[in-house]
Amino acid sequence: MSAIRYVSTRGSAERASFRDVVLSGTAPDGGLWMPADIPRLPKARIADLAELPYPDLAALILSAFVGDAIPDERLFEICQEAYAGFDDPEVAPLVPLAGRHWLLELFHGPTLAFKDFALQVVGRIMAELIDAEEGGQPLVLVGATSGDTGSAAIAAIADRANIGLVMLHPEGRVSEVQRRQMTTVDAPNIVNLAVKGSFDDCQRIVKQLFASGVGDLRLGAVNSINWLRIAGQVPYYFAAAAKLNAVDRPLAFAVPTGNFGNAFAGHVARAMGLPVERLIVASNANAILPRTIATGLYERGEALATSAPAMDIQVASNFERLLFDADPAATPGQMELLSQEGRFHLTAPQRRVLDAMFAGASAHEGAIADAMRWARDRAGQVIDPHTAAGLHAALASDLPHDVPIVTLATAHPAKFPDAVAEALGERPAAPERLRAIFGREERYATVEADPKAVASHLEDIARTLA
Ligand SMILES: *Cc1c(COP(=O)(O)O)cnc(C)c1O
Repeated sequence: MSAIRYVSTRGSAERASFRDVVLSGTAPDGGLWMPADIPRLPKARIADLAELPYPDLAALILSAFVGDAIPDERLFEICQEAYAGFDDPEVAPLVPLAGRHWLLELFHGPTLAFKDFALQVVGRIMAELIDAEEGGQPLVLVGATSGDTGSAAIAAIADRANIGLVMLHPEGRVSEVQRRQMTTVDAPNIVNLAVKGSFDDCQRIVKQLFASGVGDLRLGAVNSINWLRIAGQVPYYFAAAAKLNAVDRPLAFAVPTGNFGNAFAGHVARAMGLPVERLIVASNANAILPRTIATGLYERGEALATSAPAMDIQVASNFERLLFDADPAATPGQMELLSQEGRFHLTAPQRRVLDAMFAGASAHEGAIADAMRWARDRAGQVIDPHTAAGLHAALASDLPHDVPIVTLATAHPAKFPDAVAEALGERPAAPERLRAIFGREERYATVEADPKAVASHLEDIARTLA
């Protein structure tokens, strides 16, 4: 088992180890970490995956990115623990809809959205790497959330030794379910901050804290700029193909997309050898990525509020990884243009990759509701608005009829009961773990949209860890 090296998408940072990549967040030159080479699995090895339970399959795929940083036997144990708390024995069940359409249910984890898949592994691997250090310094994680990232990160980090987490959310701008999923977790190493401002303010504060540092604290990131968040989402693409017996014939995925993390994980699965015919990038009315795929111009706009809020995003951070994979030399200049002018054009190699492998479709609010009704009427399935944006794109696809399309179901419908009720005329049934949060006490502090206010909470939590 060899050491895997990582490079920055901006091209001027030193190569880094898996450990540094997981524990740091962004690269020192401001770029995102990528494996120097995406490892390829031999065909026979991919075919064998069909026999494996999900945690074993996940460990096998992840070991290609972890390398010798963690022994394989230990990685298998970590994956068993990470998925033991999922409430379906298959972890990621594949459900038939109608015709060639399938649903991959990614909402059986502790916070009922797909982000649990990666974060349950991220929390454990961070703890493992820190435990292995001699006299290591505790890690203080800081993140901003507009909804699902916060709860999934908190569920993954609560009560882990030597790691603290400060999570920022915009006061009054996350749903009650989302807020309670974060604030009712009673763990001494978790701090929730309601910031008097917008999600963009929260993100800006986090960026400023990373840029300036906070005293001599060791800061880490839990959002999908962390490479392990992407790697942790690759295995379910393989699992879906294995279940469809499609490890050697092409299939397509429709991926509800915001920050492009999940869709990029699908691209990595294909680069590793999975025969993916097409990745259908599904957005809501915030259609920056489908537009880019159609026109070759990436241009930031104003984010609109929709019924699928986890996709209300105008800058898809992880798209930088795809740009780099297709044309590494062009990426740093494009990112410079984006920050100065809010737009840039794709190069010919980047357009070729997008044209050959991706499609895009956006769903306005009416189309999201229509897709929810289609799933209920045609297949007896209640789906959430994010999944519905994905299904809308799948149904609109012009792929040949013998190509199965798997729509990724990214959240449980009970997380977005109002949008579901509006489309279907009835509220979705809530699983027990969601009902439980309504009886519990909430804990959070309210702060001004000021990095100094947040920094003092980081210092406080660091003292409790020391
Ligand atoms: C985060 C999230 C998305 C968007 O995923 P990205 O990886 O950011 O593209 C879609 N649906 C749900 C329910 C989410 O929580």
